[in-house]
Amino acid sequence: MTSSSMSSEPPFRCSVCRARQTLRETCRRCQADLRLVVHAHRRAAYVSTQLEKARQSGDRDRETILAAELRWLGQTR
Ligand SMILES: [Zn+2]
Repeated sequence: MTSSSMSSEPPFRCSVCRARQTLRETCRRCQADLRLVVHAHRRAAYVSTQLEKARQSGDRDRETILAAELRWLGQTR
């Protein structure tokens, strides 16, 4: 019931060991290098915002491009 905190860092699972943690560049459990994952998450957050704006302004071409990038980043919703 406490999963919806207002933290700016979204909850995140290590892609190697699945340990739950806030976004960081090195996993606190297995020390995996997560820099690319962190970068992808930040990029996805940015693209999500831009996608929402494109939807609101009815820019279908931009919406399609941004949605494709989100899928590529593995952040489908
Ligand atoms: Zn890990």
